[in-house]
Amino acid sequence: MQPWQIIAEHIAQVTGTPFDPLEPRHIGGGCINTAVRLMDGGRGYFVKLNSASLIDMFEAESDGLQAMSETETIRVPKSLCSGIADGQSYLVMEYIDMGHAGRDGSAKAGRQLAEMHRANWTSYGWHRDNTIGSTPQPNSPNDSWIDFWREQRLGFQLNLAERNGYGGSLRRGGERLLEGFHALIDHQPQPSLLHGDLWGGNMAYDPEGNPVIYDPAVYYGDREADLAMTELFGGFGNAFYDAYRESWPLEPGYSTRKVLYNLYHILNHLNLFGSGYLGQASSMIDRLLAEI
Ligand code: ADP
Repeated sequence: MQPWQIIAEHIAQVTGTPFDPLEPRHIGGGCINTAVRLMDGGRGYFVKLNSASLIDMFEAESDGLQAMSETETIRVPKSLCSGIADGQSYLVMEYIDMGHAGRDGSAKAGRQLAEMHRANWTSYGWHRDNTIGSTPQPNSPNDSWIDFWREQRLGFQLNLAERNGYGGSLRRGGERLLEGFHALIDHQPQPSLLHGDLWGGNMAYDPEGNPVIYDPAVYYGDREADLAMTELFGGFGNAFYDAYRESWPLEPGYSTRKVLYNLYHILNHLNLFGSGYLGQASSMIDRLLAEI
């Protein structure tokens, strides 16, 4: 049986309505997975595909979409089902026609993200590990934000970088940073529900102009980590930041923590995409060491 037939049957089973799709249409824009739109005459679904071994990644993504969706704040595609078909793992979710922000769209996104960040937990981390891009992301619950960030975010990526051949001065600088960490960050934020991978490519607007966020790497942590990432590859515009801060002001010291939080993503890019990110990772470490 073709994978599409198996996936269509799974969709029919969970929706309780027969589903007989036309030829799948490929959708570009993703970094990690193959994505298609599966439609019959009326209904449409967004389907991601990857190798069968990555089924855990899709199940964790589905849990993350569900967790954000339950806050009923910012719009998130509803996750439908996941599984393995014809040697490939798949994740099916609601299809949303993604477009650009209309009038007030960015301000709405800022407000709704702040509302989502009000959802909190007792510890930093999550009930399961997940992935950031395709890199494993450990989320063992921890009561100390500083320890969580040092061990499960920066320490984890620095170890991975060394295994990928980026040891040497990156490792030495990284170790000094991990040792001096407490001087940089004296912070016990509430554990907020985070998207976890909130760059511009993971937010768009539905046809009614509502912001939509997708492709998450969810965990509970400092909400500033989400905001920092929005600034990493271009920024979300003043209206977004003004609305966020009006809903929930940031604490002093954000500008330093921002570098510390974004270093995680740059190290992850180094590990995923290679040496093009080495210079940026090293200069971020140097900048942080200069502040210790
Ligand atoms: P990847 O996991 O490969 O990075 P994404 O989840 O970022 O893939 O999705 C790739 C592209 O597909 C996005 O940039 C977005 O434009 C589009 N997209 C994502 N989710 C949906 C959805 N539920 N409905 C329609 N289009 C979507």
